[in-house]
Amino acid sequence: MGIYDLTIEELSEYFLQNNDKKFYATELFSWLYNKKITSFDEASNIKKEVRDRLKKDFIISNIDIITVEEGRDVKKYLFKLSDFEHIEAVLMNHDYGNSLCISSQVGCNMGCKFCESGRRKKVRNLTTGEMVEQILKVENESGLRISHVVIMGIGEPFDNYDNICKLIKIINHSKGLNIGARHITVSTCGIVPKILEFSDFPYQVNLAISLHAPNDYIRNKIMPISKAYPLDELISSIKIYLGKTNRRVTFEYIMLDDVNDSVDNAIELVRLLRGINCYVNLIPYNETDALQYRRSKPLTIAKFYDILKENNVTVTIRREFGGTISAACGQLRSKREEI
Ligand code: SAH
Repeated sequence: MGIYDLTIEELSEYFLQNNDKKFYATELFSWLYNKKITSFDEASNIKKEVRDRLKKDFIISNIDIITVEEGRDVKKYLFKLSDFEHIEAVLMNHDYGNSLCISSQVGCNMGCKFCESGRRKKVRNLTTGEMVEQILKVENESGLRISHVVIMGIGEPFDNYDNICKLIKIINHSKGLNIGARHITVSTCGIVPKILEFSDFPYQVNLAISLHAPNDYIRNKIMPISKAYPLDELISSIKIYLGKTNRRVTFEYIMLDDVNDSVDNAIELVRLLRGINCYVNLIPYNETDALQYRRSKPLTIAKFYDILKENNVTVTIRREFGGTISAACGQLRSKREEI
């Protein structure tokens, strides 16, 4: 088992079961996440025999950076996992801090038609530790502190629900990476039962929904998940989530040329979101060679934006980071595997 798979409570339990002092958990957390040790022997205030047992029971590192591509204010990392699978993470430097977009699975089963990641079926879930380590390895390589984490890389986080919840507990913990819950965002394509379950998760993290269409007709064409959970069910679950958490949700909306970007689509979207505490993030599509979709024209995006704004929907157009370095979801991994 990987040491980064454990919450501080689980680690306390481990030490108790071995008749060690429970507070070793706090100490070890601070060695791992604050001093960022790479071998248990560096944890000098923990007894040698305990360190030896830790070495026997846990692996420290399970993932390695194999390439880094750099663009303006952005770096994209390709990692190799211990079973030789590949995943990616993207670091973005904002004026408010450094945000890391991490992967949650190897491959993805959601099959969104415009998405590069979905071209490869899910191979497996990432462990909690493999997700934590993406952050640690990037902090180490870049020399920067990651202040924001978005779970928007390869994979569907709500198809790896338990590990995502553990990840949040570990990185949010004051002795862990101490990343504020409000600085953590989980993005889902809309798995309704998990949205409902997440509404009881007691951390004030952000929820983003990949909406991408204002009606089921368009959504069914581009997002197969919509057949399992149609828009009315999705919107009802979001209302329940809002009722319980009182936390504004984000709707992501990729602008796809001639697919979902007409004036009528904008008006329909306004109607769909009426009365929901949300904001809409319009995303210029990042084109990828293997797929036929094209990004909407700048004027079309501007018009769509204006219609939402005029109708009092809070809306932003996503700042672009990774265009030149294949930073769209799954692109770097595909490039590598095609080579
Ligand atoms: N499965 C989750 C999280 C991973 S995808 C989800 O669906 O939300 C993260 C976001 O990137 C989603 O909104 C997805 O629709 C979007 N995306 C995928 N490919 C893209 C591309 N080529 N250009 C822009 N956004 C893309």
